[in-house]
Amino acid sequence: MEQPKAVKVVIIGSGPAGYTAAIYAARANLEPVLFEGFFSGPAGGQLMTTTEVENFTGFPEGITGPELVYRSRQQAERFGTVMHTEDVLEVDLSNRPFLVKGSTHSYLAETVIIATGATANRLDIPGTRDEEFWQKGVTACAVCDGAAPIFRNKPLFVVGGGDSAVEEATFLTKFGSIVYLVHRRDELRASKIMQKRALENPKIKILWDSVIDRVGGDKIVRHVIIKNLKTGALTEMEAAGVFFAVGHTPNTSFLKGQVALHDNGYIKVVPGTSKTSIEGVYAAGDVQDNVYRQAITAAGSGCMAALEAERWLSGII
Ligand SMILES: Cc1cc2nc3c(=O)[nH]c(=O)nc-3n(C[C@H](O)[C@H](O)[C@H](O)COP(=O)(O)OP(=O)(O)OC[C@H]3O[C@@H](n4cnc5c(N)ncnc54)[C@H](O)[C@@H]3O)c2cc1C
Repeated sequence: MEQPKAVKVVIIGSGPAGYTAAIYAARANLEPVLFEGFFSGPAGGQLMTTTEVENFTGFPEGITGPELVYRSRQQAERFGTVMHTEDVLEVDLSNRPFLVKGSTHSYLAETVIIATGATANRLDIPGTRDEEFWQKGVTACAVCDGAAPIFRNKPLFVVGGGDSAVEEATFLTKFGSIVYLVHRRDELRASKIMQKRALENPKIKILWDSVIDRVGGDKIVRHVIIKNLKTGALTEMEAAGVFFAVGHTPNTSFLKGQVALHDNGYIKVVPGTSKTSIEGVYAAGDVQDNVYRQAITAAGSGCMAALEAERWLSGII
C-alpha cells in the first residue's frame, strides 16, 4: 500500500451522483479523485444493470443505462478526474484531512463526497436472476420501467407489502391491465392510508399468504407460479412483469459510525443541502435519498455536493 497522497476532494462512488460531482469538482480545478467501486457493485452504479433509460433529460430517444454511464464517465475524465476502479474499504473522518483507504490507493482529503448509492433488494426466486428474466420483465423500479411497452395492458405482479409496494402497485395501474400485489402474510405492513388506497383500487388485487414460486417465459416473462403458503397450492398465472418492492439497502457499511445515519442506514444531510454531520463531508445521490432514487435527482445532488465542497474550500460557506 502506497503512502496516502494529499488531495482536495475524494469522491466515493461512481453512479450519476459521483460522476456529476467529479465533473463539477474537476471544472473548478479541485483535481478530484473518484473511487468507482469494484466488489461493492458494478463500477458505474445501478444504471449498469438496466436497459433503456427514457426519463433522463436530453435523450429524447432514450439511452441505455451503460451508455449513459459511459458518457458521464468520459465527461468526468475529460476534465481530469483521476479514477480508481476499486472499493473504499475504510475512512477516518474524525480529523481533517480525512483519510480514505481504498484496496490499493489511499488519500488524505480536504473534503469527501460520498455517493455510494443504494442497492435495490431482490428475492432469489427462480426465473428472476440476471441470466434469466432480470430486465426481461423482472425489475426493481416501477417508476423507471413501468411505462415500457412490454407491460402495457398486461397482468403485472408486485412483490412486497410495505408503503413502497403499494405505491409501486398504484403507479403500475396506469400501465397494466391488472396489478397483483403478492404478499406473504394476511395483512400489509403498509400504513393504514396506503392499505386503504390498495384495497379500494379496482385495478389492484392482493394475493394474501402468497409468494411467487417461480417466473417463466420465453424471451420475456410470460407467467408466474403463485404458491399459497397456507394451502401449498400452486397456480400458474399469466404475467408480463414482476416488480420487486422489498426495500433498498444504502451502501454505508464501510462508514462504520463515522457519519450520522438515519435508522434505515441512509446518510443524514442538512435538508436542502448535501452537508453531512461532519464539516467538509458531503453526501449525494441515493445514499442520502430514500424518496426519489432517480438518476436525475442523483446527478443534481452530485452537482450540489461539488459546489458545496468547492465553496467550503474557498472559505465562502
Ligand atoms: C433496474 C434499475 C433500473 C433503473 N432505471 C432507472 C431509470 O430508467 N431512470 C432513472 O432515473 N433511474 C433509474 N434507476 C435508479 C437509478 O439507477 C439510481 O437512482 C441512480 O443510479 C443512483 O445513482 P447514485 O449515483 O446515487 O448511485 P449508484 O448508481 O447506486 O452508484 C453508486 C456506486 O458506488 C459504488 N460503491 C458502493 N460502495 C462503494 C465503496 N465502498 N467504494 C467505492 N465505490 C462504492 C457502487 O459500486 C456503485 O457503483 C434504476 C435503478 C435500477 C436498479
